[in-house]
Amino acid sequence: MNKNNNLLLIPNINSKDAKFKELIYNVEDSLFNKENYSNKESEHLCVCSGGTTSSCAKNGYTTLDLRKNYNKIQLDRESNLVTIGGGVIMGHLINHLEKHNRSFPIGLSKLPGAGYILTGGVSPLSRAYGLAIDNIESIKGFLGNGTFISLKKNQISQEKQLIWEAIKGAAPFFSIITEIGLKTIQSNPILIIEGFVNPTELSEIIQLSEVFPENMSLQWIYAKRIYIYIFVELKNNLEDKRTKEYLLLLEKLPTLEKKIYKNFNEINFFPKELELYELNANYHSEVISLLGEDLKNDIPVLIKCLNEIRDNMPNNSCYVASQQLGCKTKKLNHGSSFFVHRKSTWKPWIYASWKKNDLQEKKVVMNWMYKSWSKLKRFYPNIHLAQLHNHLNSHREELSLAFGNRFEELKTLKNIFDPQSILPPL
Ligand SMILES: Cc1cc2nc3c(=O)[nH]c(=O)nc-3n(C[C@H](O)[C@H](O)[C@H](O)COP(=O)(O)OP(=O)(O)OC[C@H]3O[C@@H](n4cnc5c(N)ncnc54)[C@H](O)[C@@H]3O)c2cc1C
Repeated sequence: MNKNNNLLLIPNINSKDAKFKELIYNVEDSLFNKENYSNKESEHLCVCSGGTTSSCAKNGYTTLDLRKNYNKIQLDRESNLVTIGGGVIMGHLINHLEKHNRSFPIGLSKLPGAGYILTGGVSPLSRAYGLAIDNIESIKGFLGNGTFISLKKNQISQEKQLIWEAIKGAAPFFSIITEIGLKTIQSNPILIIEGFVNPTELSEIIQLSEVFPENMSLQWIYAKRIYIYIFVELKNNLEDKRTKEYLLLLEKLPTLEKKIYKNFNEINFFPKELELYELNANYHSEVISLLGEDLKNDIPVLIKCLNEIRDNMPNNSCYVASQQLGCKTKKLNHGSSFFVHRKSTWKPWIYASWKKNDLQEKKVVMNWMYKSWSKLKRFYPNIHLAQLHNHLNSHREELSLAFGNRFEELKTLKNIFDPQSILPPL
């Protein structure tokens, strides 16, 4: 094992501050040896790709850091398929693709790694191109029992079918993915309409967005103030009648600014004006992601609920935000996967953050997060398991709300392919 005592330089501050036991860079046999993990507190191997979550490094745990040796990106110009290592971050992927006028439906940040893809991957482009998992063409990696696997879409034997489906949405529980083959998309200009709005305006925009065409999506952040981004991919669509109609309706909100970007790569979400402390070295955080269907007549009640949640925010760093799915993400023609809540239109997340050594504040903040979650459940009853919370009491409930009727199959896969629970527990 390659022991390295340097700090793990990663975006997530909880993980960055963790006093991990070992740092390993290669998938090697010793990883799968249960003797390397103590049985206390179900110690398991932590895997780090983008390093944006609180579960990629923990006090006293070993981390496999894929960023050093699994970081290749290769685009095949004939097929336009890209092959990336399991430690590639989304920013590097779209930078590479940009040189060839291609792109990929990444999320709102360029920092996340392969964890973004393997846990589903909700992009502002998803309404037109599906989730990140819908664009997976092949994978290579290791199951938790050390077995090497190499799977290609359309060439999956019946016995591997369940593994293939589970990789798409639940890979972290039973596998280490070292290589992913992905479809890429033509890179197009993007129009962003953004700015602060009041609750009534947000309500109107949400209502309008539920009938947006697939090249448009809404994202909003409810912090001290409310900020929105309307994302419009301009294919040949500037002339597209429906897009034009919606853009005209949005003209009614004169405070919103419009700007056309050459491609997705140029856009930065999360405005500095909101003064969120995300990635501030003095703050630790947890995030929980929810899923729900069209809000329709519930929008005014939701806004009331969001106001209550905001009134109870323990500090200015906490917030609730949302992304929009729908259109292509509701279709099943990409094949079955473990992202089971295909009817979802909204993916809100609750961001809970506290001064890192202030345990009292942490308690208050986590309490706020759970209370806000329970208030939002009536609108968004399901979970998008983008962050693994096996260190939190909510883990079991999150698992069952994330995997629904496929949870039992996931448990079976875990028992067969990660029998010693080397990887994060269910
Ligand atoms: C600023 C920001 C913006 C975000 N925006 C979006 C968004 O728009 N849409 C969205 O869907 N999500 C979004 N996310 C959530 C993010 O995609 C998930 O939390 C994702 O799991 C992070 O992956 P990572 O590789 O960066 O994290 P890491 O902390 O490195 O990994 C998280 C966990 O995933 C597993 N994992 C990672 N790589 C592998 C691998 N190769 N093989 C097996 N298991 C692996 C491991 O269990 C690991 O502990 C955002 C997160 C942040 C911080």
